[in-house]
Amino acid sequence: MFSRPEDAGFLPVAQLASLVAKLIALGYRCLGPGVEQGAIVMRELDTPDAIPRGLQAEQAPGRYRLTRDPHNRYFAWANGPQAIKPLAFAPTESLWRVERDTAGALRFCAVLPETPLQAIIGVRACDLAALALQDAHFLREGRADAHYAERRERLFLVAVQCAEPAATCLCASTGDGPTPTTGYDIALAELADGFVAVAGSAKGAAVLNDLNLSPATLQQIETAQKQGEDAAAAQTRSLPSRNLRDALMSRLEHPRWDEVATRCLACGNCVAVCPTCFCHAETDEPALDGQSSEHARIWDSCFGEAHGHLHGFNVRPDIRSRYRQWLTHKLATWHDQFGRSGCVGCGRCIAWCPAGIDLTEEVAALTDQCSAS
Ligand code: SF4
Ligand code: SF4
Repeated sequence: MFSRPEDAGFLPVAQLASLVAKLIALGYRCLGPGVEQGAIVMRELDTPDAIPRGLQAEQAPGRYRLTRDPHNRYFAWANGPQAIKPLAFAPTESLWRVERDTAGALRFCAVLPETPLQAIIGVRACDLAALALQDAHFLREGRADAHYAERRERLFLVAVQCAEPAATCLCASTGDGPTPTTGYDIALAELADGFVAVAGSAKGAAVLNDLNLSPATLQQIETAQKQGEDAAAAQTRSLPSRNLRDALMSRLEHPRWDEVATRCLACGNCVAVCPTCFCHAETDEPALDGQSSEHARIWDSCFGEAHGHLHGFNVRPDIRSRYRQWLTHKLATWHDQFGRSGCVGCGRCIAWCPAGIDLTEEVAALTDQCSAS
């Protein structure tokens, strides 16, 4: 976000609400951080000044707790259980319905979502990287998913640099954070008295232009840059930077898969919170009168028994094979599909796993033993 420092503006802290008000005036439904059930989630901002201040999120394997930020900043929390994923790839939605007309013929019709313009304030760099991966899956040339495309093109993304990574964050090692570099409409870096603000799109530039910001000073830009570097250096978890495809795929019978299966509950929490997972199931719900039926899609997980069920048998009958499927798809075969790993380093699967399973530990155990053997 600092590639063109001459274009950076400075948004005084008291003017954050003006940015929200501007987006609301432009017709956006504005979503920003709020607290629900002890966690930060993205929820509709009823008023421009509804973003809470002074929250931090303490995270560890199987642990997430909100604490107070002594500096009373707006974005001192690293992330919550949600990314942007549910706003573009809906957890459940109808795709099409079929009706029987009076002559008994079946009529199929697409059900497209009615999506408002939505602005999200507080998107993190890892979330932007994950959204790019979701785009690669759902917006493939010639096979774009109409439901995803409809929501995606109505998003306005206000990204925020992470200055306080959680103990579970590993985006520096995956190359996806903590400073947003691409994919945003506006990016902010929070300082003590305001925000260095840059536009990443024509839409974002128009909004910032209307706010009449003064240019950011060189000192403000350097401070923001440094806090991004410090946040990267503060991360204690990491994945190896090399492509793990061969290391993992050559160890499909490694004993560590059995060991992790004794701890994994196959609950699928890791999949639900992972911003890059895109598997889904499809169901048909016929009306009781037999005159119509609705075809829906719902998020699914490779940890569910039905996910591995093929005709006549289950290709992943146990937790060992399901955890292995998740990790090897995410970190190994994802390279074949998308030219990179499927992990953007958000750390959510570590914090929200009730068993505290940490993919960085699993990879270390698998690959260390690889190189030793
Ligand atoms: S695998 Fe875990 S750390 Fe990586 S993107 Fe998914 S939830 Fe985040
Ligand atoms: S790794 Fe953790 S979150 Fe994922 S299915 Fe197993 S117990 Fe659940």
